[in-house]
Amino acid sequence: MIHLDCDVSALRGAVHFDYRLARCNSWRVGGAGDCFFAPRDADDLARFLADCAAGHPVTCLGLGSNVLIRDGGVRGIVISMRKGFDRIERVAAGRVRAGAGATCAQLARYCADAGMEGLEFMAGIPGTLGGALCMNAGAFGGETWRHVALAETLDRAGVRRERAPADFDVGYRRVGMPGEEWFTGAEFALRAGASREALRARLKELLRERNRSQPVGAASCGSVFRNPQNDHAARLIEQCGLKSCSIGGAEVSALHANFIVNRGDATAADIERLIERVRDTVERDTGVRLQTEVRIIGEKA
Ligand SMILES: Cc1cc2nc3c(=O)[nH]c(=O)nc-3n(C[C@H](O)[C@H](O)[C@H](O)COP(=O)(O)OP(=O)(O)OC[C@H]3O[C@@H](n4cnc5c(N)ncnc54)[C@H](O)[C@@H]3O)c2cc1C
Repeated sequence: MIHLDCDVSALRGAVHFDYRLARCNSWRVGGAGDCFFAPRDADDLARFLADCAAGHPVTCLGLGSNVLIRDGGVRGIVISMRKGFDRIERVAAGRVRAGAGATCAQLARYCADAGMEGLEFMAGIPGTLGGALCMNAGAFGGETWRHVALAETLDRAGVRRERAPADFDVGYRRVGMPGEEWFTGAEFALRAGASREALRARLKELLRERNRSQPVGAASCGSVFRNPQNDHAARLIEQCGLKSCSIGGAEVSALHANFIVNRGDATAADIERLIERVRDTVERDTGVRLQTEVRIIGEKA
């Protein structure tokens, strides 16, 4: 049981203890978080971090669409930035600022409606802007950090900063932070004056393409493995005959081999064992050792 050495009644957001995290991720698995805090806004989060978080590990969650939370749960504090962080506003021609809790879909739609081009690729990514910044999420040739003009962050002492992209070590589906900081929002520089109709049509087209090629309705985390250089993880997995391979309630999707779906009763351990089996089989048969894109967090049961 975690003990917070602060007055939680001074906070405006909800604090929960021993909080079921299966409801906070798209695989719908995992144990409990010792302490779960959903701050009302950045001031509330700053106060919590400065007054309550000392000595405890902090894990930030968006929509949990790129994490595997183990069955033993997450020690320390889990922070969920959603409501209160979901603002989106046009701040100048071609400039949009959004909070970490805005969803990628909302941001893509907002920009299309405002005639700003660049973030259409976000339309079908089922996460928050915070998660997209952390992962450098991308699709269909687009990538989050290609358009970031500045990032808003918060550190453990509750200090808020506006940082330039050069402060971050940005790579393929990974971003190195300058210190222990979390994203609270970002500003994007986009092409202004684009045709709204053309942008909306592009969003529709990209969503159609996803529905055709991915098990969109199933519980998954999207692509489990990063694509190796000049190749596709899905191609290698399929080549090894692993489509529909299963362990417990976890199954390699028959539609897209880089997706593992929860058939309904999977545990995080089933999924992690299946990830290992896929990785070992692909390495044995092709010599390529795949790296996970999904972040595996928490403790085994
Ligand atoms: C069906 C499906 C399709 C997908 N398609 C794509 C795709 O096309 N392209 C792609 O890149 N991804 C894709 N994903 C993966 C996922 O949606 C993205 O990585 C997304 O950006 C994660 O956002 P999230 O809010 O869910 O983050 P989470 O899963 O909650 O967190 C992911 C990581 O970001 C960290 N994090 C979250 N919020 C913050 C914050 N505010 N500050 C600092 N760190 C933070 C977490 O600690 C964790 O390490 C897909 C997932 C699914 C289920």
